[in-house]
Amino acid sequence: MTTDVLIIGGGVIGLATAIELRLRSLDVTVIVRDFQAGASHAAAGMLAPVAEQIPPGAMLELCLLSRQLYPDWTSKIEQLSGLSTGYWNCGILAPVYEQMDRNDAQWLDKQAISKHQPNLSSDVVGGWWYPEDGQVDNRALTLALRAAAVALGVNIQEGITAKNFIHHQDRVIGICTANNELIHAEHYVLATGAWSQELLPIPVHPKKGQMLSVRVTEQQLPLKQVLYAPDVYIVPRTDGRILIGATMEDVGFTPYNTPAGVQLLLQNAIHLYPQLQHYPIEEFWWGFRPSTPDELPILGASPYANLTLATGHHRNGILLAPATANLIADVINNQIPSLLEHFHYSRFCS
Ligand SMILES: Cc1cc2nc3c(=O)[nH]c(=O)nc-3n(C[C@H](O)[C@H](O)[C@H](O)COP(=O)(O)OP(=O)(O)OC[C@H]3O[C@@H](n4cnc5c(N)ncnc54)[C@H](O)[C@@H]3O)c2cc1C
Repeated sequence: MTTDVLIIGGGVIGLATAIELRLRSLDVTVIVRDFQAGASHAAAGMLAPVAEQIPPGAMLELCLLSRQLYPDWTSKIEQLSGLSTGYWNCGILAPVYEQMDRNDAQWLDKQAISKHQPNLSSDVVGGWWYPEDGQVDNRALTLALRAAAVALGVNIQEGITAKNFIHHQDRVIGICTANNELIHAEHYVLATGAWSQELLPIPVHPKKGQMLSVRVTEQQLPLKQVLYAPDVYIVPRTDGRILIGATMEDVGFTPYNTPAGVQLLLQNAIHLYPQLQHYPIEEFWWGFRPSTPDELPILGASPYANLTLATGHHRNGILLAPATANLIADVINNQIPSLLEHFHYSRFCS
């Protein structure tokens, strides 16, 4: 089989990039081992560059750009797919338990924060209100991206594992799959998230996150914004689900939820918002963030002239999907956006 662009990986990064390239009239194939195993399925879907306190610099610039793209991008995906993405510019409230020495416009003192969000822990002394951060339902988004890609004519092949690149001098000439099939393309994009080292020696490592959810009815939803405390976050969805996350664990690809992980999440969440303790638990799950040593993504050039990297998005890959898709499509169209120099793989080469 041959195609203009072969994307390996079908999380939000691979799918968003496939759509952008297809909209620029390229013939695109995506191969993906398992949609549900990806971090994109496991995430909380927060669009939180400010709440995450990303320091000023290229990463913050990229995150803010992507957050700005979200409303138009999700409405385009919804039109193409006919499916909702659950994008919600609900704002993020960041309560704290210790008095902070900050007095800016976004700071709410104890009285103001309890008016803004009733029933928080009595230990909350104040917090910040970030009205421009928000959320998307990452599972709904992934389904909508898949449907939009199919509607545009992207060839998506599920259940296919890329085993290795075949190269000649500085070019990739094919991908060999686990079934020993060969797939050829003019250009290749590596978007395999936490599993990227299976195909290329780049420093992307899994950082496990455990999560759980409770559910109330849509009408009973007590929260109208994300709560982002120092030790836990609580993300209400419009359909009545309430997500609680997330652990940060260096345990490789060890699967499953653990009693310790779940206990920590429940303890911190109930401390922050005590009435949660009464809601029925719906689901437990876990996922693997694609992390890098400096926690910045690896985007753009690779050691091969026709292989582009789109991986290592760590805690912010859902947020960064639209901006990443645009940048990677630019690279494949021979434009090199200057922002990309900060995310070059060679920063890890000594
Ligand atoms: C618990 C948790 C909470 C998170 N919360 C947020 C959040 O609130 N906001 C946010 O912005 N980000 C969040 N993230 C981070 C975000 O989920 C990731 O950065 C993002 O999903 C990465 O997307 P991706 O497409 O690169 O990778 P993935 O979604 O992991 O997709 C990679 C895909 O590649 C496939 N694949 C891998 N190897 C191969 C191979 N050899 N051949 C074929 N296919 C292959 C996999 O099957 C998978 O489908 C969270 C992550 C976790 C785990």
